[in-house]
Amino acid sequence: MRTPIIIGNWKLNNTIAEGLALATEIKNRVAATRHVDVAIAPVFTSIAPIAQRLADSSVSVAGQNCYWESSGAWTGEVSPQLLHDAGARYCIVGHSERRQYYGDTNVDVGRKAFAIIDATLTAIICVGETHAERTNNQTNDIIQKQIDGAFSAISSQQLTHVVVAYEPVWAIGTGNTATPDQAQTTIASIRTILSKRYGSPQADTLRIQYGGSVSPKNALDILSKPDIDGALVGGASLKADSFVEIVKAATLTVAATPMVR
Ligand code: PEP
Repeated sequence: MRTPIIIGNWKLNNTIAEGLALATEIKNRVAATRHVDVAIAPVFTSIAPIAQRLADSSVSVAGQNCYWESSGAWTGEVSPQLLHDAGARYCIVGHSERRQYYGDTNVDVGRKAFAIIDATLTAIICVGETHAERTNNQTNDIIQKQIDGAFSAISSQQLTHVVVAYEPVWAIGTGNTATPDQAQTTIASIRTILSKRYGSPQADTLRIQYGGSVSPKNALDILSKPDIDGALVGGASLKADSFVEIVKAATLTVAATPMVR
């Protein structure tokens, strides 16, 4: 019984006015959607106004990153507590762009993930291998290390406040989507890794998304796979048409398996 979750990662895009317009259109167009969770992750400066605009809707707001300290002399940082105060209910952590360009290590991701949950947000923990790592058959080893770091302080009771996003680095923003079978196989391995850590009942209830060039064209095939519980969407989340189509694809997978979901 896992509810699919579609999250739009807007990255460094959209002014407050542009973000409000996009968020409002998404809110209106997914208003009738049932059994699929929807969230958008705007830039920090837009979180509060967009969260206010979405307050009476089914669309939630997420941060794209945060720091692990709650307050203090950390110039330029934003804490999960402040994200919550601004109206966010989720926060992405460990995105490959953070790991690649800002040096976020597996240990950092673990600290941030724990802080996010401690602030009563849900952590969207991103993991995924580079092209070279996949070619060298290191995918499972890399993901095992990323999970060891990210989940180091997370208890099994806290797993209800975690979503994992499997995002192969080679698929992000490239148009080279993983095939549905590749995504399913790796996500099933992630579930196995987590079931070794927490037990299978816990791992079976944890949601694991796929991310990497998801579009209206490939969403249904990807989201129909049994272990894939939604999508983290970058480029296609910047237009209401494509984002809403992906949400619709997720609703079709729920309707297709009414006895399971
Ligand atoms: C992302 O950045 O999380 C992402 C999945 O981007 P895109 O959909 O553009 O590949």
